[in-house]
Amino acid sequence: MRTSLGRSLAVFLCVIVLTVTGINTWSLWHDWQLKLAQRELEARNLSVSLARQAEDAFLQVDIILSEAVRELIQNGPAYAATPAFKTHIRAQQGKIPQLHGLFIYDKQGNWVASSASYVPAKASNADRDYFIWHRMHTDDGLHISRVIRSRSTGDLVIPVSFRLNDAAGNFAGVALATVRVDYFRQFYSYYSLGEKDVLALILANTSVLYIRPLPDSFINRSLSASPLFRTALKASDSGSATWRSALDGVERVFGYARLDRYPLIVTAGFDRDAARKEWLSENLVDLALNVVLLFIISGMGFFMLRQIRVNVKNHLELTLVRDELTGINHTLQSLALVDGLTGLANRRQFDVLLEKNLERSAKSGEPLSLIMVDIDFFKRYNDSYGHVTGDQCLRSVGIALKSVIHRSDDIVARYGGEEFAIILPNTGAADALKVAQRAVQAVSDLSLAHRASAVPEGVVTISAGCGTITASGDASEEERLKEQADNALYHAKRSGRNRAVSASD
Ligand code: GH3
Ligand code: MG
Ligand code: MG
Repeated sequence: MRTSLGRSLAVFLCVIVLTVTGINTWSLWHDWQLKLAQRELEARNLSVSLARQAEDAFLQVDIILSEAVRELIQNGPAYAATPAFKTHIRAQQGKIPQLHGLFIYDKQGNWVASSASYVPAKASNADRDYFIWHRMHTDDGLHISRVIRSRSTGDLVIPVSFRLNDAAGNFAGVALATVRVDYFRQFYSYYSLGEKDVLALILANTSVLYIRPLPDSFINRSLSASPLFRTALKASDSGSATWRSALDGVERVFGYARLDRYPLIVTAGFDRDAARKEWLSENLVDLALNVVLLFIISGMGFFMLRQIRVNVKNHLELTLVRDELTGINHTLQSLALVDGLTGLANRRQFDVLLEKNLERSAKSGEPLSLIMVDIDFFKRYNDSYGHVTGDQCLRSVGIALKSVIHRSDDIVARYGGEEFAIILPNTGAADALKVAQRAVQAVSDLSLAHRASAVPEGVVTISAGCGTITASGDASEEERLKEQADNALYHAKRSGRNRAVSASD
């Protein structure tokens, strides 16, 4: 994670995981919205078509009952009690399956005529809601009431009725048709629906006339608290919406439609939970595949991150080792090229540099000089002052020699023991001798006491021999130059030490 590659990969991984999750969530949500919209459409269409069916069913009853009422009006109220009328209504009742019975009551609620073969002993219906309603209302339109249990057959029926008036327009009784609840029960059972999906026929006064698949105990329950009456029907006569049922608390996607002609409403409600389960099962394979995909991507990402971390660690270790080696190498190199005691170039470096400078001289045609330096009576010095002071003396001489060279190309080297060498590129014999003389002077000027020296000054002195050559590239030139300087040094020693001699002298 410490590297930018690791960071990029981590960010890339996060983006992939978030994108895949985001796309999937959106796709699932979108699918769910589609499913709900589809359910709402289905519910609405179903409710509209059931509303048509209910309207037809009640219209047929309406026509037959109106016909009976018209006959009574034509033939007078007494006609109701005649066998002809009874035969007539019996025939009518058999014509349509939803019609349970036709009845005529006088103004006291007594049975005057009935299509039923059985007439109960207590044959007054003055206590029925519809009867009371007609007595109270002069309205001569069709009236539909809450479900009742038939006194003639014990069946659950929906009363559909008209008020009968006498010639003066006073209440004279009720003409009643009863519609079988079972007719709707059967019709609604033709639809193959889910366990908790509902189809309901509801009276506009909020009473349930029939609701499938709930038990009959729900019949006549009021839906006044339902969003159907509180909001949906207020907004529109037909539509769809999702709400929690006021009857059984189940959340459903409802479609609803109000009938044009009669005060009735039909609803179709699909269990939202079932829709959710269906949606889930439809998407489960996709979901599982995506989760697996995410795991694979994450796993691969983490594996790569770990590899990168390992690589970075290895790389760091390698870099450390390399740096260490480079350091060691530098030390070794300098150790190999520098004299440990004086810090001057050592013999090896001297050899390399002399060879290079000879090559340069051969190329440029410029002369190259070499000064060989040897401390005078140094054996005696050691003997007198000891080796530690001897080493100190070597260091001081080295510093003095360095102080006399001025060009950056000039090199002072420790040639070996108490011998030094000075390489002077582009320097002729005369100039080299001057440098050698300055060196002799510089060491003498150190005034390092040397009581055992045979040199009269009684201080540490050096002898120096100069050689000069203009190289031509010949292999023997190196030896020749050294010999020149050596011979000159020999002469300097022989002629009294503490001096410089040039080979050209
Ligand atoms: P000359 O004037 O003829 O050069 O006499 P010399 O005594 O200097 O010459 P010689 O070659 O006989 O002695 C060189 C001495 O230098 C021998 C050795 O004790 C000493 N020497 C060589 N290398 C070192 C060193 O690294 N440290 C010390 N302290 N002495 C060294
Ligand atoms: Mg010597
Ligand atoms: Mg010596």
